[in-house]
Amino acid sequence: MRRIYMDANATTPLLPEVLEAMRPFWMEEFGNASSIHQQGQGARAAVDRARVQVAGLLGCRAAEVVFTSGGTESDNMALFGVLHPGDHLITTSIEHHAVLHAAEELAERGIEVTFLPCTPDGVVEVAALKEALRPRTRLVSVMLANNETGAIQPVHELAAVAHAAGALFHTDAVQAAGKLEIDVAKLGCDLLSVSGHKMYAPQGTGALFVRRSVRLRPMFFGGLHERGRRPGTENVAGIVGLGKAAESAQSWLAGGGPAELAALRDRLEQGILGAVEEAGINGAAAARVANTSNLFFDHVEAEALVIALDLKGLAVSGGSACQSGATEPSHVLTAMGLSEARARASVRLSLSRLTTEDEVERAIAMVPAAVGRLRELSPSWAKTAATVA
Ligand code: PLP
Repeated sequence: MRRIYMDANATTPLLPEVLEAMRPFWMEEFGNASSIHQQGQGARAAVDRARVQVAGLLGCRAAEVVFTSGGTESDNMALFGVLHPGDHLITTSIEHHAVLHAAEELAERGIEVTFLPCTPDGVVEVAALKEALRPRTRLVSVMLANNETGAIQPVHELAAVAHAAGALFHTDAVQAAGKLEIDVAKLGCDLLSVSGHKMYAPQGTGALFVRRSVRLRPMFFGGLHERGRRPGTENVAGIVGLGKAAESAQSWLAGGGPAELAALRDRLEQGILGAVEEAGINGAAAARVANTSNLFFDHVEAEALVIALDLKGLAVSGGSACQSGATEPSHVLTAMGLSEARARASVRLSLSRLTTEDEVERAIAMVPAAVGRLRELSPSWAKTAATVA
């Protein structure tokens, strides 16, 4: 039986057209984009084309796209690039560690940091931002879609409030790019991070949108690549892949892809929850990206469920993949007010553009069966069952 992959928020495979677009740039069309000979010019033209493709997905100018090594670098570049000791940074308690840990490091370096709370559905409220703003607030950083719950944040409104107070606005759009229409002008953000491997391009590729008016201090020093904002010989094949993936995402979005994927996700949720009691959706009332489902199954350890499903051929995740191995419950779910027990009983199923109806139906059969088997072994479940009986 073919394995089923429902962990697209951890990483996605390359689309065939992305691999095809990249292939020549490792072999017959290799070149350093800084070289003046023909191989170099070919590489430069490919990087320029990709920059236009990424700008097309984000609704910005090509010159406002800086290629990076991924979401983590883009987030770090945005935060470290604009903040100075004495500044105030506002971010949230539900960010990815790429922002959270960068903010903690900035706090060590003399930047004051405020972490905004969220609602029980995992949404950051405009009122909370208004209350936290100070005259010294230089940057507000709030993600566009949460990686664990898929909850979409009110970035347009938050950015307007930040700007009215004279602050810049950054959004980590790693889990939104390619899943939602993004237009940086409509969102009103000054900086926006994307990652290739969450949108069918290779791991180790990414981009940061930097509004033309924003002065960004580079994190690395070297040549004048990326207009001095990110020195280092370009990863030409990777950048070409990111460009192709951006182009492909645009047609998928325009062709009604999100609605079709949301229908599959909704079917998955209904199918599973219809067959399991004491279970539910974390962040159910929030607007969510189409592919993400975070479900709790009380009296079940998420880690055990992930392993049981893996053995049956279904890949899902408990908490975010970047934390696996850590024993702490998810910081996102606890920020939403879930008890530690429920946070530890939650798993994330994230579908991809390649997920099929058949896979969803198979998962609907597998998850309740695995939950049932684990509950039979759970002392707290036995107690609940005894009380009900
Ligand atoms: N931001 C979010 C919301 C993410 O989900 C991730 C990865 O899971 C990152 C940033 C980090 O991106 P990358 O893996 O490309 O460094």
